[in-house]
Amino acid sequence: MDPETFIHDESDKCVKCGLCLPHCPTYTCTRNEADSPRGRIALLQGWVEGGLELSPRLRAHLDGCLTCRACEHACPSTVRFGQLMDAGRALMAERDGTGAGNALQDRMTKRLRGRQLPLGLLRVYQKTGAQWLARRSGLLEKFGAGRLDRYLPRLPRTVKWRSRYEPQGTSRGDVALFTGCMAPFDQATLRAATGLLAKWGYRVHIPPAQVCCGALDLHAGNPREARRLAMANREVFDALQADALVFTASGCGATLSEYGMLYGEKLKMPVMGISQFLNRAGQPETITLLPLQKKVAVHDPCTLTHVLRTENSVYGLLARIPEIQLTPLPDNATCCGAAGSYMLTQPEMADALLADKIEQLRSLQPDILLTSNTGCALHLQAGIREAGLEIEVMHPVTLVERQSKE
Ligand code: SF4
Ligand code: SF4
Repeated sequence: MDPETFIHDESDKCVKCGLCLPHCPTYTCTRNEADSPRGRIALLQGWVEGGLELSPRLRAHLDGCLTCRACEHACPSTVRFGQLMDAGRALMAERDGTGAGNALQDRMTKRLRGRQLPLGLLRVYQKTGAQWLARRSGLLEKFGAGRLDRYLPRLPRTVKWRSRYEPQGTSRGDVALFTGCMAPFDQATLRAATGLLAKWGYRVHIPPAQVCCGALDLHAGNPREARRLAMANREVFDALQADALVFTASGCGATLSEYGMLYGEKLKMPVMGISQFLNRAGQPETITLLPLQKKVAVHDPCTLTHVLRTENSVYGLLARIPEIQLTPLPDNATCCGAAGSYMLTQPEMADALLADKIEQLRSLQPDILLTSNTGCALHLQAGIREAGLEIEVMHPVTLVERQSKE
């Protein structure tokens, strides 16, 4: 269906009840109806039906949406808000052509999707002191690269993934692992996932021909490219014999699990988060999880809570660690502000939402913060660093792997 018809039909399902409003982070911040789900639906409808111009003001209200889908989760009329916004962005890109970010950010996210980041150069930038100098000189801000630099984690040597890792002990089956285009920024999580799956008896396949899940393109108004990537992944993973396609980043997982709804062609094997998969598989008798006497806070990414709706499996898996003090972050259903490239393109709102999470962490004082999405981890890590807090941030699977003993 073309975006215009989709917006027309889907926005008609909204009965303007307003039940989604208290769940919307941007509406909660600004108290402006135009920054609410109901308001945005009315704006999209008004624009598509010809009553409203795509003015910079209208566009700002639409670009301000995090696509966190908290509203969709709360909506009794089952309005597919995420798809509605994606269709709106596709139509805006078609008619208006401009993206929400600056030129450098757009170029970098494009390179990220195509796995063409100059990682070697970035490592040199970090190691030679050029980063230190750039930060102090004010040049980063001048060239619109301050936000990109803020989220750049310490880059270790790139891991050359093998296409197959054998199980340890008796084989329990085969899984495919989705690495995603953020893999260079989160190698620790992927290493932990591969190690843990093998320890739990699974043969792990990492096909090198896999590509980005398509989420960044889909949410940036580029549905053709998103579809092309989805079809390429379908070809790669459908050719494999495995029990499940396992992902570590919930942002990628949300998109992979919606291929059927978005493109009418879903992947043959079930798509599952690593925590969900391991929790379901059960801990083998040969593995012991060592006790951990630490306070561990858990952040639930929106894609896990509002799209996949499998956040309980994370707590189920972590509860296997003896003596762990698990604390969900208060107000976990509210977005942290990362939201894909939103943390780059909408700095004010992204930082306002982050500030709330940092305040919660300041009063909870955990030793460790766990989150199942790479973008959220980078955003939260930046906030923690800037606030001078001593909290280790990692994926739940990294902690479970750390506590595993054969
Ligand atoms: S809850 Fe659903 S139907 Fe009600 S205003 Fe929000 S989007 Fe519309
Ligand atoms: S997706 Fe999130 S930010 Fe956007 S309207 Fe819905 S609740 Fe608000």
